[in-house]
Amino acid sequence: MIKRNSGLANLTAGYLFPEIARRRREYAASHPDAKIISLGIGNTTEPLSKHIAKAMSDYALGLATPEGYSGYGDEQGNSELRAKITETFYKNMASADEIFISDGAKCDIARIQTLFGSKAKIAVQDPAYPVYVDGSVVIGAAGKNGGKGYKGVTYLPCTPENNFFPDLSKVKKNTLIYFCSPNNPTGATASRDELKALVDFANKNGCIIIYDAAYFAFIRDENLPKTIFEIPGARTCAIEVNSFSKPAGFTGVRVGWTVVPNDLKFADGSLVNKDWNRIMTTLFNGASNIAQAGALAALDEQGIKDMTAQVDYYLENGRIIKTTLDGENFKKHGVEVYFTGNGPYVWAKFPGKTSWDVFDKILRECNVVTTPGSGFGPAGESFIRFSSFGHRADIEEACARLSKFQL
Ligand SMILES: *Cc1c(COP(=O)(O)O)cnc(C)c1O
Repeated sequence: MIKRNSGLANLTAGYLFPEIARRRREYAASHPDAKIISLGIGNTTEPLSKHIAKAMSDYALGLATPEGYSGYGDEQGNSELRAKITETFYKNMASADEIFISDGAKCDIARIQTLFGSKAKIAVQDPAYPVYVDGSVVIGAAGKNGGKGYKGVTYLPCTPENNFFPDLSKVKKNTLIYFCSPNNPTGATASRDELKALVDFANKNGCIIIYDAAYFAFIRDENLPKTIFEIPGARTCAIEVNSFSKPAGFTGVRVGWTVVPNDLKFADGSLVNKDWNRIMTTLFNGASNIAQAGALAALDEQGIKDMTAQVDYYLENGRIIKTTLDGENFKKHGVEVYFTGNGPYVWAKFPGKTSWDVFDKILRECNVVTTPGSGFGPAGESFIRFSSFGHRADIEEACARLSKFQL
């Protein structure tokens, strides 16, 4: 018999979201009349822009004609889309041959791990989006869960005490640093000075930053950088992973991109960009051409307008949730609420309680599903993530229930 990849065996059972779904199902089965509302999973809910959907529909119909048909495209992506992304987001910061179109940021993060292999040293913000660590475990770069997190991973607590920016002095030389801003789950968005400190640290210590900018479109404060490449020196130490999922509601359509600068090198002096090109052409066969047609439409004048409106809608949901959690019924228990207005998540601390206890209580008493912060890493304990992805009426109903909640 063939042995199982030991990395898979090392993964802790019960990935966060299936466990949430299990508890929700169990509750619903014993309370069939409960109208459960989810402020839990970070999935988009609002319909696609008609303009963007039409571009995909037209492209799809074109595929049924001899003139409009195309088969495999370039594995790196449609060159028009690569140029448009460069011009829209990375003017004077990156060139089109450094932009690689993909089927999404999560998939790219998993593929990026093949660039560095099982010997890579890993550091993550704690709490963090699960794929950074779980993907590292699968590939063997991180070991068994030792109770307070996986072996071989340097967890960098990001808490109210350090203003959600980690103590970089804990990071060893030559480490792969996963950094997400605006952050999932905390919503924290790094300032220019903070990102400069991160970039300077990485350059000085031979580290590479995997910068997850999936929520860049939520940044409304003009002083905050939307891409790591706004920071001088980032081209020699950073890869940026990005996506249309959250700005354009493409969670199901699937288009993302990754920027790998030509100035980024491995220890042996070889170019990371060249190997990334090799990975994408070898393990990937290009993003869907229909989805890429949609992404192109998302970047014209009307598309940008529609994306901005959609993100504004979610940000308003976030403000409604924050206002609710700022209520007296929470305040009297010392609940601390963090919402920056530059990301879709409201992050709240319930002192003295575990995340799962609060999760269960909100589920039982409000019939609202949230996300326990402890599922994102040890430093997420006692926190709950409230997602602003939802229809306004559902958000308002959930908030009406939460405003009567007694902890
Ligand atoms: C949603 C999310 C992604 C996933 O992006 P896809 O392009 O849909 O794969 C990546 N990173 C973070 C932090 C996310 O929350």
